[in-house]
Amino acid sequence: MPVLLKNATFVDWKTLEFRSVNILTGQNEGRLQFIEENEIPDDQSTLEVLDCTGKLVTKSFANGHHHAYSALSCGMGAPKKEPANFAETLTYIWWTLDKCLDSEMIEYSALVTAIACARAGSTFVIDHHASPSAINGSLETIARAFDKVGLSHLLCYEISDRDGSEKAFEGLMETESYIKHRQGLIGLHASFTIGKETLKRAALLMIKHETGAHIHVAEDLHDQDDCIRKYGKRVVERLESYGILGSSKTILAHCLHLDSEEVDLIRNSPCWIVQNAESNMNNNVGRFNGKQLGTRIMTGTDGMNSDMFQSSRAAFLSGRGSDLISCSSAYDRLRNANNYLKENKFAGDGEDNLIVLDYKPPTEINSNNFAGHFIFGMNSTHVQHVISKGKLIVRDREILTVDEAEIMKEAKRCASLLWKKMQA
Ligand SMILES: [Zn+2]
Repeated sequence: MPVLLKNATFVDWKTLEFRSVNILTGQNEGRLQFIEENEIPDDQSTLEVLDCTGKLVTKSFANGHHHAYSALSCGMGAPKKEPANFAETLTYIWWTLDKCLDSEMIEYSALVTAIACARAGSTFVIDHHASPSAINGSLETIARAFDKVGLSHLLCYEISDRDGSEKAFEGLMETESYIKHRQGLIGLHASFTIGKETLKRAALLMIKHETGAHIHVAEDLHDQDDCIRKYGKRVVERLESYGILGSSKTILAHCLHLDSEEVDLIRNSPCWIVQNAESNMNNNVGRFNGKQLGTRIMTGTDGMNSDMFQSSRAAFLSGRGSDLISCSSAYDRLRNANNYLKENKFAGDGEDNLIVLDYKPPTEINSNNFAGHFIFGMNSTHVQHVISKGKLIVRDREILTVDEAEIMKEAKRCASLLWKKMQA
């Protein structure tokens, strides 16, 4: 049903211009219609009407790097061995978890992630998925779950040789079968788990389907050390030699441990970087520094949570003193996920994706200080309503598209099975 937002204060996400308007969705896909008081239809029975008096309305968010597969990990017990470094964190936590995922767990991980994203104001998710024991069909399972909640998405399967060449081949097959009928990327775990043959095949797939790669890059020094030892070059140089940097659709996640040649290679390429500040702090792998990397930097949550307010604030705070980040550039990085999607003509992130913020600060808010309010004042509890592709999916902080209580009940059951499997 089209939505009428009456008496809104609309904040344009590109210019930060404030306008007092009435907004109508549903007339043109991906577009909004701004109407005058006297143009408001008398018969509103076919409209969802939201009184936005005193509320801010702006474009909803896109998450530049997420891992829905980790959604059932919150609160789980300690791993069998306390990880001593990043490589052990992967081995004893994430690679133990993702190997235990079955199709139902993947579905509920995606459903609860989509609900959390929507509630926190994101209507688009760029996800990086791994489930080595249930690869076939996993991306379609996630896509359907996101569709059900009403979120748009750009998915990929994390291709890797870490479990042998057969699993790498399954990852390549899953990717190709998915991107034949859905928009998606070529997911790659990271250089240190991808051998020559797999990287070659993935690069060919990327070119064949005119898409980009989505890969963790130099998240930890281990990635660089491994690359230099095995291939005599650094990670970004290796990726460049396979043509991975050649697409504006390619996403390089993290990019913490780069030398100046790698920085130049990235800056002179069309690809995008995504920073994940909370995850970097959690894994103790270093702090992101975008100083020399140009402006094609976006923000992700890396599976830590689904809250872009929180991630942007973490990017701002962790960058103080090392990165050239300001409130405005933290906001720009948040908006760059939308710019990435727009530049590459991915579907689902049109102007008819909106959040209504019930945000009433004690100080003036306007175009000049919106970014300051965004970093220091706003949080996801201010998101009152969410509109995705012109339709209302969250009203008064309640999800309208699915039975949330039922999904949470089933998710808890799946989580308990998952945690047991992980201890076996
Ligand atoms: Zn990640």
